[in-house]
Amino acid sequence: MTCSEPLVDAFKRRISYLRLSVTDRCDLRCSYCMPERMTFLPKKEVLSLEELHKLALAFIERGITKIRLTGGEPLVRRDVIELVQALGRKLGDGLDELTLTTNGTRLEEFAGDLFEAGVRRVNVSLDTMDGQLFEELSRRDRLVQVLRGIAEAKRAGLQVKINTVALKGINQSEIPFLVEWAGTHGHDMTLIEVMPLGEVDGERVDHYLPLPAVRDELEERFTLTDIDDDTGGPARYVRVGETGGRLGFITPLTNNFCATCNRIRVTATGQLYACLGGAEKVDLRAALRSDSPDANLAVALDEAMRIKPEKHDFRIEEGAAPAQPRHMSMTGG
Ligand code: SAM
Ligand code: SF4
Repeated sequence: MTCSEPLVDAFKRRISYLRLSVTDRCDLRCSYCMPERMTFLPKKEVLSLEELHKLALAFIERGITKIRLTGGEPLVRRDVIELVQALGRKLGDGLDELTLTTNGTRLEEFAGDLFEAGVRRVNVSLDTMDGQLFEELSRRDRLVQVLRGIAEAKRAGLQVKINTVALKGINQSEIPFLVEWAGTHGHDMTLIEVMPLGEVDGERVDHYLPLPAVRDELEERFTLTDIDDDTGGPARYVRVGETGGRLGFITPLTNNFCATCNRIRVTATGQLYACLGGAEKVDLRAALRSDSPDANLAVALDEAMRIKPEKHDFRIEEGAAPAQPRHMSMTGG
């Protein structure tokens, strides 16, 4: 039995955007994301390429029109391009957009393949353009590869949006430069507040930087005009007069954006989390590996719509445990 009913949650929000993690592994160790000695999942727990594909098709059947592949670092998974190619064939046939979020270290190698498979936009995370700070922050010396990756993506025809986590006392003073650089190089940019997800080595609260304060500071230097652009995600955008670029603010702490949430997230082990900040989940891997995968997947997706909470409630406080024990690298961004 299959079901093609659109996904609508208990608060009448139509869910059309899937963030699908293809791996929890990563070649960087960004300090706000994970500890240096991160424990990754045994490979056998992770969905196979076929399972990820089947799952994605089931979501498209239920009205998901946008899929973002994420991780961990999606481009460290060896067979990820095969998945991109397979999903690329659904573009125009149920799927409107296929995209991914990457740290950019392997983008130079894969940009051409991504474009050929139908990807047109990618998000690249870049918190600093200072090589030494990049190495301190990500615990790896990879800035040059990332910048080469961004350049190659542009050459291949991909639009690159830069994602930057705003970190007090770390990249705070560099943010105006990053805004200028992104705008003059034709990249949209999004600033993100650090979220309390998963244990890390230090205290996130020490580096939490509320974006309303960042905006105030930017307005001393740039002319920012609110614009209505909706890219299907949680960012609120402004136009930067001096560069013509678009700048987004993702404010999960200072300004909750849940009322318009259209998203769900699936981890690389097939756990569907109904909310980034909540524990509500359904096990899609169990459904996929059952005797009646189609029927059980349909039931699991209905259950996900029933349990999706109205909103998250992140707080970032000294000494407090993370809002959720899982890291962003599990549920992806
Ligand atoms: N590895 C890829 C990357 O870095 O783009 C994809 C996965 S990463 C988890 C997705 C996004 O989440 C990145 O932009 C990263 O900076 C952001 N991120 C990770 N941990 C975060 C946290 N605790 N709070 C806010 N953003 C976080
Ligand atoms: Fe890896 Fe992305 Fe997390 Fe950085 S933010 S450690 S690149 S998953």
